[in-house]
This record gives sequence, structure tokens and C-alpha cells, in this order.
Amino acid sequence: MSKNITFDVVVAGGSVSGLLCAREIARSGLSVVVLEEDSEIGTPEHCGGLVSLKAMEKLGILPSSRSILHNINKAQLLSHSKDFELRVQSDKLVVMDRREFDKQLAFQTQKFGAYIFTKTLVMSINYDSIDRRFKIKTNNGLFSSNFFVDARGISSLIKTQNRSGILQSAQYEIYADWISSDSIIVKFDSEKYPQFFAWVIPIAKGKAKIGVAGSKINTIQTLDSFISTFGSKYSTIRKIYAPIWVGGPLKNFVNEFSLVVGDAAGQTKPTTAGGIFSCGMGGVLAGKSISEFKKTNDKDDLNQYQKKWYSIFGKEFQQMLFFRKILERLDNKSLDEIFSLVSNIDLNEISKSASFDFHSMAISRLLGTKKTMRLLSTMLGNEIRHILPTRSPYT
Ligand SMILES: Cc1cc2nc3c(=O)[nH]c(=O)nc-3n(C[C@H](O)[C@H](O)[C@H](O)COP(=O)(O)OP(=O)(O)OC[C@H]3O[C@@H](n4cnc5c(N)ncnc54)[C@H](O)[C@@H]3O)c2cc1C
Repeated sequence: MSKNITFDVVVAGGSVSGLLCAREIARSGLSVVVLEEDSEIGTPEHCGGLVSLKAMEKLGILPSSRSILHNINKAQLLSHSKDFELRVQSDKLVVMDRREFDKQLAFQTQKFGAYIFTKTLVMSINYDSIDRRFKIKTNNGLFSSNFFVDARGISSLIKTQNRSGILQSAQYEIYADWISSDSIIVKFDSEKYPQFFAWVIPIAKGKAKIGVAGSKINTIQTLDSFISTFGSKYSTIRKIYAPIWVGGPLKNFVNEFSLVVGDAAGQTKPTTAGGIFSCGMGGVLAGKSISEFKKTNDKDDLNQYQKKWYSIFGKEFQQMLFFRKILERLDNKSLDEIFSLVSNIDLNEISKSASFDFHSMAISRLLGTKKTMRLLSTMLGNEIRHILPTRSPYT
């Protein structure tokens, strides 16, 4: 079917940030369409699905029981030869089934009046200055609109940004008897997973998403070797390979009537590359700003998107970028030393106040003891002053 349709807003990309953006736009009564290249919303899934229920609330979603796979109560952090455990106390952490969750979002979005077209690949975007509209060419016809929102994920970011912010990742869904039901595992090893870590996210007793990411590694070999450290008896149910972005947010999210949201705007956490919350908020805030601008015609309303996103996440992301710098400089010996110092402090106190969505404060408290600071200051000199606890926007 060939289409030539006009909307107030065209959103390219039908995942969390694009759908939430469209939901807010449709809610205000404007016409909006989401164009998704894949043939099914939520599939292929390339996400661990770890998110806090507080974040879901902020995004305006009450996840259905089918979307929530599992509750997480603790995290085991391992270095080469040391480990410690943090209990998840202040946030309720869950693992979402992104295939199901994204469909739930799509349903909510279309209920407010948005259109969603799958198998629709955005091929080119041009602004016609005479008509004052975007002309969006797809394999499914031509769309035109007053606003264009780019929610095409990391594939869009890669085209314009320095590749140093990109790491390669692999994640498998596996079944194995050793998988405990309520604890995530995060393993640091500067040789095997340079600049990142390996993880296990349980989705049920005996089932987990297990992955690795790092700079310049062979993710397939590295992940196979990580899995084998737990034993040779397991079954692989699903495999995904995807780049992740840890380079921080773009400086500009708004260019005239074109906005960029989510992974495409670099809105994933520089520490963990988690983005359901921060990318989703990008979508919500962009959608609200477009809706407001359509009422007032005041450009400042459009720019509120960027201002508000930075006021929520700006400082937190800046601090995460600093922690990333530290991680990049630590070898296994220093990691072991830090882990051993951390395991001697009162982790219960930190567990009580630690926030999953704004975790820089918890990292500051873990690294902020005199002995750890002394160790880090020999590596980082004056920069170490960045490790000062900041307040979480939740508190
Ligand atoms: C291995 C892995 C594990 C992760 N684990 C977690 C986690 O546990 N918790 C967490 O919070 N985050 C996690 N993330 C990050 C999270 O998945 C992303 O931050 C989030 O999905 C970003 O949403 P988005 O809508 O911005 O982009 P995406 O989810 O990347 O969606 C972009 C969409 O645009 C579509 N698209 C692309 N190009 C076009 C085109 N030309 N035309 C039409 N459509 C197009 C794509 O098909 C896709 O549906 C993980 C990421 C990876 C890779």
C-alpha cells in the first residue's frame, strides 16, 4: 500500500522513547504517527529489561503482570578475586519482558489516538522550507509533518557521533540450574571486559539473561567463556548482539522543528548503558514540549524538552561519565584493592538509600572512604574531587 499522509508529528522508531513521545503528543489532541522498521513492536528485543517500578511510575506506566518477568532483591558485585553484595532496598527492581512491555506501551499510545505503522523503514528526511513541512520517505509511502522526532536508537547516533562512546555487547537468554532467582551478578575484569562488565539478570529460577560488553572484544568468545565459568550444563534460548552507547547525552536535542530522543540522543546511562527510564523520559518530555509549543507558538516551550531532561539527568550523567573514566583506568589489581576496601564498609547503610535510577550517589559513597580516595587519588590526582555524594532527584 502506498501512502502520502500528513500528520502534525512523525516519530521514527517504535520503541520506548518513540512510543512515549507519541503518547504525549496524541494525548494533547495532535495527529501523530510512529514509523517502525521491524515487523513487530518489541521484537527483536535487545535489552536486559532491568528497571525500577519508581521509574515506570514516572513514565506514566503501570506495567501489566505479563510485562513483569521477575523481582530483583540484591546485586552481587565481583572483581577478579573479591566480591561484595548490595541489597536492593529503596527501589523495587523488576525485570521487564521488553517484547510485552513495548506492546503495552504501543496499546496505550494508540488508545490516545496515535497511529503506529510497522515494517515501515524511514529512508530519508527532508525539510521543505516552502511548504514548511518535513517530507519523510519510507518503503511504505511518503509522510509529511510539521515536526519530526528521531527515536531510531543507536543506529541514528552512530551516524553522527565519535565511535569512542560505543561498546559492543552480546546477551543470551539461557536456562541453567545454577541461576538463583533474585540476585543480579555484575562481574568486573579489566582484561576480559575492558571499560564495562559482564552480567547475569535472572528472569526466573533457572532462567537468565547473561551478557558481556567491552571495548574491542570478541563478544561471542567472551560471553561463551563467561558462561562456562558457571558450569558446562546450560541451554541457550536466544542470542542477541548489539552496540551500546556510554558516551553521554548529545548537547542539542532540538534543531528547529526536529527533535531527537532516547538512545538516538545518547540518553543512556554512561555507567550501565541502561536507558528504559532516561530514554523514556526523553520521549515524554519531548512529546509534552511539542504539544505545548503547538498551543503557544513560543520556541521556548519547545526548548523546555532539553532543559527539563538536563535538569533531571544532567548532573547524574556527568558524574557517571566521571566514574566511567575511573573504570577505564583501573586494572584488575586496583579493582581487587577497591573491592576489598568496599567490602569492609557498612553496605547495609548504602543499600538502604541507594537508588537504581540515580546510582551515582551510591557509587560516590562506595568510593568515598578515606582509604579508597587515597588509592584513587594516586591514579586520578585532583579529579578525585568529583567523588562527592550528590543528592538523588527522588529524595
Ligand atoms: C544488551 C542490552 C541490554 C540492555 N539492558 C538494559 C536494562 O537492563 N535496563 C535498561 O534500562 N536499559 C537496558 N538497555 C538499554 C535500552 O534497551 C535502551 O536504552 C532503550 O531501549 C532505548 O530506547 P529507544 O526507544 O531510545 O531506542 P531503541 O529501543 O533502540 O529503539 C529504536 C527503534 O527504532 C527503530 N528504527 C531504527 N531505525 C529505523 C528506521 N530507519 N526506520 C524506522 N524505524 C527504525 C528500531 O527498529 C527500534 O525499534 C540495554 C541495551 C542493550 C543493547
